[in-house]
Amino acid sequence: MSSLQCSRVCFVLCAFLLLLSCQTRDLIQEETDRPNIILFLVDDMGWQDTSVPFWKETTKYNRRYRTPNMERLAAEGMKFTQAYATPVCSPSRISLMTGMNAARHRVTNWTLDKNQMKTPEINHPDLQIPMWNVNGMTPDSTIEHAAYAKSQPQVLKEEGYHTIHAGKAHLGAKSTPAENPLNIGFNVNIAGHAAGAPASYLGEDHFGNKASFKSSPWKVPGLDKYHGEDVFLTEAITQEAIRALDERDTTTPFFLYMSYYGVHTPIMADRRYYQSYLDQGLDTIEARYASMVQAMDKSVGDVLGYLDQHKIAEETIILFMSDNGGLSAHARGGVAHTHNEPLRSGKGSIYEGGIREPMIIRWPGQLAAGSVYDDYLIIEDFYPSVLEMAGIKHIDVPQVMDGLSFVSHIKAVTAPPAERSLYWHYPNKWGGTCPGCDSFSAIRQGDWKLIYFHLDQRFELYDLKEDISEQSNLISIYPSQAESLAADLTEYLVIVDAQMPTYKFKQQAVPWPADSWKSYHKMTKEYTVKKVSKALDINGEGDDPQWEGATILRDFSYPWRDEDAPSTVFRALYDEAYLYFIYHVQDDEIHVEQSYDTDKLNAVYSDRVEIFLKKSDAMDPYYSLEMDASSRLYDSKGKFYREIDGDWRYPADEITIKSSMDDEGYIVEGKISMRSLREFDLIDGQVIHAGLYRGNYVNGGRDTKWISWIMPDAEQPDFHIPSSFGRLILEP
Ligand code: CA
Repeated sequence: MSSLQCSRVCFVLCAFLLLLSCQTRDLIQEETDRPNIILFLVDDMGWQDTSVPFWKETTKYNRRYRTPNMERLAAEGMKFTQAYATPVCSPSRISLMTGMNAARHRVTNWTLDKNQMKTPEINHPDLQIPMWNVNGMTPDSTIEHAAYAKSQPQVLKEEGYHTIHAGKAHLGAKSTPAENPLNIGFNVNIAGHAAGAPASYLGEDHFGNKASFKSSPWKVPGLDKYHGEDVFLTEAITQEAIRALDERDTTTPFFLYMSYYGVHTPIMADRRYYQSYLDQGLDTIEARYASMVQAMDKSVGDVLGYLDQHKIAEETIILFMSDNGGLSAHARGGVAHTHNEPLRSGKGSIYEGGIREPMIIRWPGQLAAGSVYDDYLIIEDFYPSVLEMAGIKHIDVPQVMDGLSFVSHIKAVTAPPAERSLYWHYPNKWGGTCPGCDSFSAIRQGDWKLIYFHLDQRFELYDLKEDISEQSNLISIYPSQAESLAADLTEYLVIVDAQMPTYKFKQQAVPWPADSWKSYHKMTKEYTVKKVSKALDINGEGDDPQWEGATILRDFSYPWRDEDAPSTVFRALYDEAYLYFIYHVQDDEIHVEQSYDTDKLNAVYSDRVEIFLKKSDAMDPYYSLEMDASSRLYDSKGKFYREIDGDWRYPADEITIKSSMDDEGYIVEGKISMRSLREFDLIDGQVIHAGLYRGNYVNGGRDTKWISWIMPDAEQPDFHIPSSFGRLILEP
């Protein structure tokens, strides 16, 4: 036995003895030794909305926000750098309360009205969104469209905990039992109901109960005594929570679920902190937002102070978490989609900005002060973890749980499972528009993250260790990695019977990721077209500096010849108005035909580059744009197979082609209007199905050698078939 093996055996033995000693202790002290548990859940708080750095670097956002009490928690406890939730409220909250993954509990979008899907879902132009569990969770199996489960507080209550709900509930739709926290295991409910946001944070507005708010579903219930007062909602809820702690029976342990309405919209100023952020130079919206963050932090401090004052801090476990990424798509000041940087995008998105959360645990005597936990975990893990912290070993619940307790991992008793996969599933439509906010399924395993967007069956693969900002889609570099993740994701979605949307135009369900991968992606290459903010100068020289930011495509070859092709390099960029493209072609013998009457005919008998465009695999229709070294265009409209209308012209106002030649070769540079591409129905979600080819004239124009990006499925040279096309992906 090696010393390593020995130490492992010793380690396991020690862990076993520790377990035995714990159990013995439990038998003796079970009733008196249970810790109090406080779970702070902030609404919509982003990973960077704090002065505590959760990344390896301190960011400008860490310098902006003042959260001294979070700093204190982190200094006295453990900070988590890869804690995940889902991209929107209700799925995370139901996972927290049930231990189930969103794909299983099916409360995949945010809830409010009974039996009603969201308007953007009903009006989705392309996808039929499935009838998900729009009614949230339910303690009663008779409620339809709801996830039937025994909640975490219900288990705690049955085990002797006094359970207090303070703040936002948002667990069941209106007129269902779970809209009231008292029906799902809480002894006390402060201000919680069906809605996921307040009509107003201001006591002066009666938190939305004033007549001026009419029939708003967002009026906060139960805080009447603060109506008309100069008090912020966060403060009122904190005072009530502390009062509930004061009034409790101190002989039993308590569970306080401190579930802040903040920092969700409406973004309103807490006057105590607002001016200081204006003084920092923030715009009014961002100053209001920051004041809400600080109000939350002050509340955390008040609760910590209560524990200190009553000398119960040592017997109280604190957990701090948020339910989704920081809002960045709308309603914020500054530049959209940047508020969670270095993470990409924000609330609603499957990119890290939508799902990575600030998380801290303070557990006196168990977790080292100032420690950091770098492994990943997800919100459904809180259910079994909190119960384990409470010393509850056997639970009897109707639901199948996906969450795994992280308690032994954070205590460093056991290592987390090496290849654990985390799953996200969102067959829905959120209200906002942002990168990564579409209907999707996704998996994280190790450092890899694979995203499958349902609408266009687009896959994206990221190495999060190297690329936390998800800028380099590695799908074409590591296809086998993607394939295996797609298989794992599919297996899980099938096991939990996940709901998929249906394509409206063909009444077919979106295929499972593994099936999509097999049928389509194995054959098809992708090129990412990045977006530019400024129009490109198209002059045939390729000297606009923005070309340097474009993805470089060099992957051209002779599909039907056993020799190396001369270099062909393609780039494309786009903005709202145009798809820009450029070919750099190496060619020491450029043939420019002059013998025909028209430029159009001369072009098709010359050295040239080509872009074919198809609407779909049916190729009915498809278009060809064949551009020679002297900027002449042969354009055509066709129908499979080779029913080509050579008289057809691409609308002249909608396309520009420029070129230049020298001894080394030639450049063809151009732009095609997005308007025309849309008019011809050539933009499929974020995808343009395009063939990229080149006809290389040799022997004084007598022979043509065909060059392509794709290896078409054809024995003889032929680009007029579906398999010769790849996918240009318009990066959002
Ligand atoms: Ca939220």
